[in-house]
Amino acid sequence: MSFSALFSPLKVGTLELQNRFVIPPMGTNHANSDGTVSDRNIAYWQARARGGWGLIIVEVTAVDPLGKAIPYQLGIWDDKFIDGLRRATEAVHQYGAKIAVQLHHAGRQTYRSVIGEQPVAPSPVSCPVCREIPRELTVAEVYALIEKFGDAARRAREAGFDMVEIHGAHGYLIAQFMSPHANKRVDEFGGSFANRMKFPLEIIRNVRRKVGRGFPLSFRFSAEERVPGGMDTEESLAAARLVEAAGIDVLDVSVGVYGSMEYIFATPALPPGHSLPLAAAVKKAVKIPVIGVGRFNEPHLAENAVQTGKADLIAWGRQSLADPELPNKVAAGQVDEIAPCIACNQGCVGYLFDADKLLVSCLVNPFCGREVAMEIKPAQKKKKVVVVGAGPGGLECAWVAAACGHEVVLFEKEAVAGGQWRVGAIPPAKQPIAAALAYYLRMCNKYGVKLRMETEATAELILAENPAAVVLATGGETDFPPLQGIDNPRVVTASEVLEGKVDPGPAVLIIGGGLVGSETADFLAEQGREVTVLEMLPEIATDMQDVVRQFLMDRLYHFGVDIETETTVREITADGVKAIQDGQEVRLEGYDNIVIATGIQSVRGLEEQLKGKVPELHIIGDAAEPRKAIDAIEEGAALAVKL
Ligand code: SF4
Repeated sequence: MSFSALFSPLKVGTLELQNRFVIPPMGTNHANSDGTVSDRNIAYWQARARGGWGLIIVEVTAVDPLGKAIPYQLGIWDDKFIDGLRRATEAVHQYGAKIAVQLHHAGRQTYRSVIGEQPVAPSPVSCPVCREIPRELTVAEVYALIEKFGDAARRAREAGFDMVEIHGAHGYLIAQFMSPHANKRVDEFGGSFANRMKFPLEIIRNVRRKVGRGFPLSFRFSAEERVPGGMDTEESLAAARLVEAAGIDVLDVSVGVYGSMEYIFATPALPPGHSLPLAAAVKKAVKIPVIGVGRFNEPHLAENAVQTGKADLIAWGRQSLADPELPNKVAAGQVDEIAPCIACNQGCVGYLFDADKLLVSCLVNPFCGREVAMEIKPAQKKKKVVVVGAGPGGLECAWVAAACGHEVVLFEKEAVAGGQWRVGAIPPAKQPIAAALAYYLRMCNKYGVKLRMETEATAELILAENPAAVVLATGGETDFPPLQGIDNPRVVTASEVLEGKVDPGPAVLIIGGGLVGSETADFLAEQGREVTVLEMLPEIATDMQDVVRQFLMDRLYHFGVDIETETTVREITADGVKAIQDGQEVRLEGYDNIVIATGIQSVRGLEEQLKGKVPELHIIGDAAEPRKAIDAIEEGAALAVKL
């Protein structure tokens, strides 16, 4: 496939784009604490500009300190920000990419802890996610904010941006004014559709006045809010025509608000390009170009979307985190070397709102957001490295070490790579994990990793390689709880069930409602089996990212899975368990099989045998301590660049 549509140039107003690949604005928390541009910001954008993107739209950039949504958000509310932002535009322009900035005010979708006082909004109606009752803006304050958007746009132009995008999407302040779900005002900014559109239209006019004629402007909006009484497609099409008439040059069409976050950060439960039909509908209503978005990660689908006229430009949000080199790889015919976004939301959205992380990275690409600290470059001293275990951590460590120039041998006892993670690809909506594993294997092959599959790595075999460094990435195995009856032949592991090694029968009891137990329940319930999940905690699947969990919970309720929380198993009986619920002993019986999903324990028997016998011995991932694939991959990469 030539991807001729994706690589054809396009004019957006006066802006000439070299191709149709767009990085949409995504908050990163990478700015300095005062909102100025950081070195981390620059390195992150530069890595993407090098990757061949036609247009990079810099993330949510606050026009007012009260409008910040995240603590380390970029600011543009004062002239003091211009110099830093100019560093950004110069860094990106070196590579021929165009750069825009998104002007943003969070309105009610923020927290007092982020902005230091009560959030503001069109009406005192709290966001169902942030839950803080906002203060209603006075009319005078609304007009002041309109000026602030215009002033921010003027600063953007002075900083060298090629375009300004006005953020009217995802339930932030402008969207709140547009939305009947959030705007209950009865003055000139509320009530009728025309009044609700007044705030965005006045902003566009103010911005246009301050940036001058001919300066390209984008407007982003959610064509469907997907909350009760929110903006729907018909209102959005009318809104699109109004903002076009007000002087917008391109429409960036998204979907959802915080209250329907599952559409903003779609999981694999939604297909790639899931919101493209909305962009296509908007494109029919207007004459200006339209940007489509929504879990795009395959160039073939993007090419088709442009070829068939559903969108003029394709925005690859999380996919640009997973692989900043995507356009270059497509151009070079290296489509099979694209690191796929698996829509897990762990390293990006998950880390963004995790107080211990506060950055945007990526499970598949741990270099994302760490461009300053971690880099693949030729090792000072080339070494022979043995990696044991081709799970996610071992694969990442092996290919990155090989890419740095080390000679790498990778032992895997199974015939197929992936370890526990490969099994994790089996439940419904988890297939992208298989795509990621296939990518890691291709990178191992590309950089010459010697794969020894179906080979149990003994100490003798490892020492025979005379390695300078050994990495134990041997993962974990089922941790059987010490229960009476655990040796019952009806007791099986979640892995055995998912891999089809045992027939679980029509009625299955799962002990353990973490990620593995809950996804195994989904897998079995989808097959029409009667499933019960037992969990000691008050809720199940608490170790999953919120949006991913929401889709899973919906399916479990849909299938009628019996979820017994705050239940502690005391004994396994002939066909079930004795357990404690509400302080009382209960018997849950009549099951064909009992699945153990209570966690795993590290496998690291080689440690003792190799200690003192090799110059360097490293243990990563679950072999060090049972955790998630993202931890193993991060550790694998961090170690590989230091070997
Ligand atoms: Fe995609 Fe997961 Fe990476 Fe986020 S962390 S960009 S969802 S692979």
